[in-house]
Amino acid sequence: MKLPDQLFVDGSYRDSASGRRTPLVNPATETPLAEVAAADLADVDAAVDSAHRAWESNWRDWTPGKRTEVMYAIARLLREHLEDLAQIECQNIGKPIGDARDEIGLGARVFEFYAGAITKFCGQTIPVWRGGFDYTLHAPLGVVAAIVPWNFPFPIGCWKVAPALAAGNAVILKPASLSPLTALKLGQLACEAGLPPGVLQVLPGAGSAIGDALVTHPLIRKVSFTGSTEIGRHIMELASRDLKRISLELGGKSPNIVFADADWERAAETSPMSVFANTGQDCCARSRVFVERKVYEPFVEKFVAATRKLAVGDPAKPETQLGPLVSAGQRATVEEYLTDARQRGSRFACGGNRPVGKGYYLEPAVLLEVGQADRCWREEIFGPVVAVRPFDDETAMIREVNATPYGLSGSLWTNDLRRALRVARQVESGVLSVNSHSSVHVEAPFGGFKQSGIGRDLGMNALEGYTELKNVYVAE
Ligand code: NAD
Ligand code: MN
Repeated sequence: MKLPDQLFVDGSYRDSASGRRTPLVNPATETPLAEVAAADLADVDAAVDSAHRAWESNWRDWTPGKRTEVMYAIARLLREHLEDLAQIECQNIGKPIGDARDEIGLGARVFEFYAGAITKFCGQTIPVWRGGFDYTLHAPLGVVAAIVPWNFPFPIGCWKVAPALAAGNAVILKPASLSPLTALKLGQLACEAGLPPGVLQVLPGAGSAIGDALVTHPLIRKVSFTGSTEIGRHIMELASRDLKRISLELGGKSPNIVFADADWERAAETSPMSVFANTGQDCCARSRVFVERKVYEPFVEKFVAATRKLAVGDPAKPETQLGPLVSAGQRATVEEYLTDARQRGSRFACGGNRPVGKGYYLEPAVLLEVGQADRCWREEIFGPVVAVRPFDDETAMIREVNATPYGLSGSLWTNDLRRALRVARQVESGVLSVNSHSSVHVEAPFGGFKQSGIGRDLGMNALEGYTELKNVYVAE
């Protein structure tokens, strides 16, 4: 299969103006995978100009029905190419092939959802004081920049591109420099499905090289960003200059709260994948486990046993649950946290070592006796590391759950309905699941409290973020 290795601008693949390329390495084998054109400032200008032209001269006047049809056509092509796209993601970032297939399917479903949603995204008629006719409508913004991370490149790309297009915007998609391949295919397939050239451009390249230019470009009306809190803060500062619209989906340090009255055995068996899925490189990873002391010891025993059973290895094999980390650098960062934990006297119930052989692998680590001031308890690690602590008192536990700048996701295990409602109300997070670990539903809003972000992806809510509310008054 030929891997895409050029920018996708104005309906076709092309090299960057500078000719610069970024080498990609397969993280499971440490062998070279491809060299992909890296966009530079001149490419940003060309792509934004072309996107704006396509928007102004054509796309913004498409009827909702025509947009619906092309969105369904894109979804169909994504499904036809599901296996190719999944194989690409597997090789590019070491994503287990089963997960990769699920994520491409999820991306297609996002297009289907917004294909249908856009004709149900209603305005109001308002009985204004002076009579006449007053109505609101959702106007597209223009050209939107979507900047995405490397951990879930395809679904996160889709959950920005699809609502933005459905609402009538043009989009510049900037994938992370480590994971440009499926984004480039998305650009090409969308065009093949009938999206006019220029409406979706895909610009791989380093954030340090083109990020600021995208964020400050006067023709970019909104930046929809998913990534680290640090870069999110930087984007917010830059965006303040011309009051650019932003939405930010940032880091997390999400809790997994297990009460003794819960089906804690099921919690213990399912919780390892709530933090170790995607090798822990997940903004929703439940990396802090709070277990009521009465069941702490048996919970830990089952949790560790379930962790030891996880299939770590070649992401191309269908039975693999954990592939390698995305890069040597990411593994080194995670190992710094493990060193810190060792120095502070945390107990490793399992994991934390590199298996022998090639690939940026790391065995999933369960840490006990982690102090509340320790880095492993406080900071987002973004790797296969979890800390488990017992708690006695619900109120003190919730205070500790909320004593973090983050507030993205979390799980809560209890069979006491009143407790479930009470705790769900008190946890400061944008999404929370009770007796489950699911965080993402295409139909429901996704995003963070506090420094986990601003704005919401997915659901009908995302459409609000890609439109301005316009009020029109008509005299009678
Ligand atoms: P990152 O912040 O390093 O990079 C994200 C994107 O921003 C990349 O495309 C990068 O090239 C770009 N970028 C870098 N500098 C930029 C600049 N100056 N201007 C504009 N863009 C710039 O994040 P990452 O390492 O790719 O991903 C890991 C982080 O993403 C973690 O913190 C994780 O929690 C977060 N994340 C959040 C969510 C969520 O939905 N809340 C989902 C996935 C990942
Ligand atoms: Mn990064």
